[in-house]
Amino acid sequence: QAKGSGRQALRFFDPSMQAALHAKVKLEAELRQALENQQWRLHYQPQVDRHGSFTGVEALLRWEHPERGLVSPAEFIPLLESTGLINDVGEWVLEEACQQLARWVYSPQLSQLTISVNISPLQFRETDFLTRVEQVFHHTQAPLAQLKLEVTESLFVEARDDARDKMLSLKALGVRFSLDDFGTGYSSLAYLAQLPLDQLKIDQSFVQQVLESKANAAIVESTIALAKSLNLDIIAEGVETEAQQAWLMAHGCHAFQGYLFGRPVSVSDIEAAVSAQSRH
Ligand code: C2E
Ligand code: MG
Ligand code: MG
Ligand code: MG
Repeated sequence: QAKGSGRQALRFFDPSMQAALHAKVKLEAELRQALENQQWRLHYQPQVDRHGSFTGVEALLRWEHPERGLVSPAEFIPLLESTGLINDVGEWVLEEACQQLARWVYSPQLSQLTISVNISPLQFRETDFLTRVEQVFHHTQAPLAQLKLEVTESLFVEARDDARDKMLSLKALGVRFSLDDFGTGYSSLAYLAQLPLDQLKIDQSFVQQVLESKANAAIVESTIALAKSLNLDIIAEGVETEAQQAWLMAHGCHAFQGYLFGRPVSVSDIEAAVSAQSRH
């Protein structure tokens, strides 16, 4: 890349750019080692019904970096995707979540919970995605009816029929699908109606401004109406206040996820929260 115009060559040797490049190369090398060094963690954030009872959790990936502590996905998911590491790390996430579901089967309080797992579009489009997923299902023996896969609209921007076929194969095994961050992508509503979805997840950017912005309120209302007419479940993410929850309930949304009900926490903390609730 140092080739070409003199300007680009100069920019390459700019010390601050070189430092940034060096940091990126280092981060990439560390990411490559993270699986082997067992630095990945799954945190779980509760999802609740209209009474505030836990119905499930979303699994959210964390990187426990030796010096930097817990690193958030915004920093490393794009890098996992651009390096192709997302396939192996995504498989680790699914495996971990499925093992959790399989363990919870024996607990009266935990056995009804669903786990939602985020799947990167790049991971979903891999040719061996189905084979790898089926292997995980086979050896974990997870109750698949309690597994939800979260996909985003960007999955359907290209190779959409392939994505739909894969969804259908997974649906046949009992897996459910949730469309994450709904309203932030560019997917066609006509095509969405043809997908084997179970749930729409209203993006937190709309939820958090629902009381302040008429436009956001209108978007949320039409999303709820769309879900109803397509016979899909609806859940709101990023619910932080009781006023937001009350507004959502008044407009027909009765499933919630957000800091109001709990932040993403370790598996032992989520288990403790569920058993504390069931004692009341
Ligand atoms: P997402 O799937 O939309 O997850 C929701 C994000 O919103 C999470 O951020 C969660 O911690 C945060 N959140 C939940 N409730 C609230 C709230 O009330 N207020 C605010 N301000 N934020 C809230 P997180 O954990 O940082 O994850 C960010 C994104 O990274 C996720 O967005 C998802 O797209 C991606 N991600 C996380 N884990 C995985 C994974 O295992 N695989 C893949 N492919 N992507 C993942
Ligand atoms: Mg999600
Ligand atoms: Mg989301
Ligand atoms: Mg989001």
